[in-house]
Amino acid sequence: MTTIRDREAALYMQAGRRMPITVVRGAGTRVWDDEGREYLDFVAGIATNTLGHADPELADVIAAQARRLVHTSNLVYSLPQIELAELLIAHSCADRVFFVNSGAEANETALKLARKWGKIHRDGAHVVICAENAFHGRTLATIAATGNPRYSDPFTPLPAGFAHVPYDDLDALKAATGDETVAVMLEPLQGEGGINVPSPGYLRAVRAWCDEQGLLLILDEVQSGMGRTGTLWAYEQEGIEPDILTSAKALGGGVPVGAALAREHAAVFEPGDHGNTFGGSVLATAAAAHVVRRLVEGGVLEAGRARGEQLGRSLESLADRAPGVVGVRGRGLLRGLELERDVAPDVVAAALDAGLILNAVRPNVLRFMPPLTVTDEEIERAVSLAEQAVAAAL
Ligand SMILES: *Cc1c(COP(=O)(O)O)cnc(C)c1O
Repeated sequence: MTTIRDREAALYMQAGRRMPITVVRGAGTRVWDDEGREYLDFVAGIATNTLGHADPELADVIAAQARRLVHTSNLVYSLPQIELAELLIAHSCADRVFFVNSGAEANETALKLARKWGKIHRDGAHVVICAENAFHGRTLATIAATGNPRYSDPFTPLPAGFAHVPYDDLDALKAATGDETVAVMLEPLQGEGGINVPSPGYLRAVRAWCDEQGLLLILDEVQSGMGRTGTLWAYEQEGIEPDILTSAKALGGGVPVGAALAREHAAVFEPGDHGNTFGGSVLATAAAAHVVRRLVEGGVLEAGRARGEQLGRSLESLADRAPGVVGVRGRGLLRGLELERDVAPDVVAAALDAGLILNAVRPNVLRFMPPLTVTDEEIERAVSLAEQAVAAAL
């Protein structure tokens, strides 16, 4: 009998790598594989399953909506879509929203807004300054924005109009700004780049520079948003507001949905400028509206913030006592454990054997991103399993 691994190897384009388990069921922070083995899931669908797995209320919302209407089209109005729009506008600095299905599409939308805004307001300026080590998605424009040769070299020529500067380096950003510059696009803290938190005041200074130069500030909150770092949006902790903001990953609690949000002056689309068949589908926006409501009205945001502080403290104390661990990065429930050597993939394998799902975001950095509903016991258990896995891998 062929295994699922053989079947997958024969059928799929081998564009990524998987852990050697088949996950069939979940509940909260736990998942089970096809052999009935239980795991603590500190990857949570790559920071998507905000409410944990198989949340009964979210499941009810999805089921009820599916029985009524799954998808119509953006040629007509839909109630869940307008409810989600109202929630996002009420709970962000933005005035207008455009719905999509993924982070890359949300960023594509933001980039198209910036291009059009540049034509109207900056004499056709179109260059977007991005950071080294960024991650903005895998479409052609977003790998150009990401600027990592590992993701883009096989696919050149790339769309033009991107410049890259080191993250957390204001002077480099200033030096890179020119007549052709239209916007600066950054993650408030870098996720895929290794959980890199900028120095205090950096984002505020970037905001001031954008104001001074008449540039748009686009913040990619696809990973940092939706309560992941302790506030609904990470920018709230910096005392600034972006002109354009993107969201996806956790927005639907695991259901694919994304959004580009803009303040009025940056929301320059007119009829015919942009479109998306599934963007803001009835099913996805019903799910996302429930998730946002649970976060802001149901106490999930506060609970997640408390657990995020706990995770930070627990990992700090692990870093203090465990040989081979250099330090802790990140905020809230998005944390990186930095190792002395490039053994993060070995630690992930050892953790999986012990019943903990983790991610090696860099060869020397482990990423912890559990659901916002994770319990304090689950955090202590995960940190203790991670400690054993680090010891086993060294
Ligand atoms: C994951 C991610 C994206 C891409 O999202 P997809 O849904 O995979 O297209 C973009 N930006 C950031 C910051 C991300 O973490």
